[in-house]
This record gives sequence, C-alpha cells and structure tokens, in this order.
Amino acid sequence: MHATALGVLPAVAYAVSRLTASLATRTPDRTLAATRLRRANRLLQVAVALAGVALATDSLLDDAVVAAVPGPTALGVLAGLAGTVVVGGVAPALAVHLGSRPAWAAVTRAAPDYGRAVRRYLLFVTVLTAPAFAVVGVWLAAPSGLPGLAAVALAALALAAGLPVLAARHAGVREPTERERACVPECARGLRVRVVDTSRSPVANALAAGALPGYRYVFVTDALFATLDDDAVAAVVAHEAGHHRRAHVAVRFLAVGGALAPVFLAAGGILPGVLAPAVASVVLLLAAGPVVRWTEFDADDYAARHTSPVAMERALATLAARGLLAEDRGRLVGLVSLHPSVDDRRGRLQDHNPH
Ligand SMILES: [Zn+2]
Repeated sequence: MHATALGVLPAVAYAVSRLTASLATRTPDRTLAATRLRRANRLLQVAVALAGVALATDSLLDDAVVAAVPGPTALGVLAGLAGTVVVGGVAPALAVHLGSRPAWAAVTRAAPDYGRAVRRYLLFVTVLTAPAFAVVGVWLAAPSGLPGLAAVALAALALAAGLPVLAARHAGVREPTERERACVPECARGLRVRVVDTSRSPVANALAAGALPGYRYVFVTDALFATLDDDAVAAVVAHEAGHHRRAHVAVRFLAVGGALAPVFLAAGGILPGVLAPAVASVVLLLAAGPVVRWTEFDADDYAARHTSPVAMERALATLAARGLLAEDRGRLVGLVSLHPSVDDRRGRLQDHNPH
C-alpha cells in the first residue's frame, strides 16, 4: 500500500505541477509570472516532500534498508534515513520541479534543458542535506549522553566554519573583478567578498557565511551586480558585512542550535520523553524567528550607517519589484518567517533621517 503510494507520488506530483505552473503563468507580465511560478513550485515541493517523507517513514522502507546494510548499526540507520529522504522527499520534489520546466521555459523564452535541471537540482539537494547528514552521522557514531551532544555541537561548528571555505573554492565562485570591487564598501574590508556566477538562471542574492577570523565571507551573485546600481550593491554588501560585524552569524547559529537541543537531548537519553522535548524545540524555533528577523533590521541599520539608507531602501525596492523578496504577507506567515517583509524593512530605513 505504502510502496504503491510512494511509487505513484512522483507521477502525481509532476502532473499537478504542470497544471499549477500553466495556471500560474497565465499573465502577460513576465515578472509576475516568474514570481508566481517560483512560489507555486516551492510550495508544491514542500507539500509533496512532507507527504512523501511521512509515507516513507510509515512504510517498511527504512527497516529494509537498515537490515540490508552490513557493518555497524549506525551506518544502517544513516542509510535508512538517506533512503527515506531520497525516495520520500527528493524524488517527488524533483518531479514538481521538472513539471514546472515547460512553463518556466515559456517565461524565460529558452528551451528547457532537463539534464541540466536534474543535475543542478541534485547538486542543490546535496549541498542542502549533506551537512545535516554529517551531523546526524557524528551523533550516531558518538557515545550517548553529553559527550555525544558535545561531538554534535563541534561537528556543526566545524561545518559552519568550514563549508564557506569549501564553497569559495567551487568553480562557480570567483574573486570580484576590478569594477565589482569598486562597489565593495569600506566597512566590508577584511571580509572575503566572492562573486557567484549564476549564468542561465540569474538570481540576485547575497549571503554572509563563515565564522573563522580571516575566513569570513560575503557571497554575492553576479546577477546582483546586473540588477542593482553600484550604490545599491554597496548597500547590500554592507548589509551582509553587518551580519558579520554585529555577530549575527553566531547569534543565528546559537538560536537554531539551541532550539534543536531538546530533541537531541531527548534522543540521547538525557531528557526523558519524546513529546515534551519536541514541543520545546518547536516553541524555541518559533522564538528564534523574531531573533533572526531582528538581525535583518539590525543589518539594514548597519548598512544605512555605513553606506546610505536611501541606497539600502532602493536595493530592497528593486529586489522586491523583481519578485526576489516578499513584499507583504499575512500575519501567520510573518510569525513563522525568518525574514521580515520588505515593507517593514523599508519603513525602518525611512526612519533613518539623514542629517
Ligand atoms: Zn540579511
């Protein structure tokens, strides 16, 4: 029963995605079509992945994998977990992604390249899930109790510090050109600014990552330089620099890590029960939302002080107009979202009176 449902899910996901995508792009406005398409694609992927993982967890799949893998039990458990994620989550989500390709091709007026879409998607999923699997692997292999928890915390810290260093060596990441370097504001001096080439699917985005002194990075996509004027790019880089300078990277790590701690403590047998720690983790994750949202306002404030509030506001307005940032939304989404809405951020920036 579960096996049949798991087998059919990707096909259903593909069909629903094709239909939704063609409905979402029924507008002559290409920017609006792209925004709707991206949103529908993301929502559907989350929905089918959740359904698939629930089905796979409830099925005999992981037990079968655990039994089939030779060697230590930890290895089998990890393989079972990977099987659940790949079969239940990745396969149907990829089907949704592929189902939206024809509509996406109509919007971008470029023929869909399915081979490339699959390769990029799998790379994205690997980058997203590999660190989580590494941490879980360490946890399974480590002794139970507090030493195990310490090992997990150390592994997570090593990944947070080391992954940006690895990413910076990736072929698609380069040093800024002379012209791009001219946009980097004074306040980002000492940080490693790197440009991510996005080629055929340009996404204007920026990210602060890394924790080791001398190895703190600001990643900026090439599309950001193409989308924004020089002053607005400088403001965005200053915003990311602000995340480093005001210790937001560490604050976020601690907020999310602290929220997940009850679940790990319960799984390690240090906390009794399952439900109470799980509830505690959910509550702490909800509480982490406002903290992370505050870091966005604070980084905007940093950018406004070190470049200009007008340029930062212009950057937000342009990115929002391109559908790259959520402009406004319902209360519920705002409550659980990690990013404040652009309207809120622009409002705060307008309070910055340039004297
Ligand atoms: Zn930010």
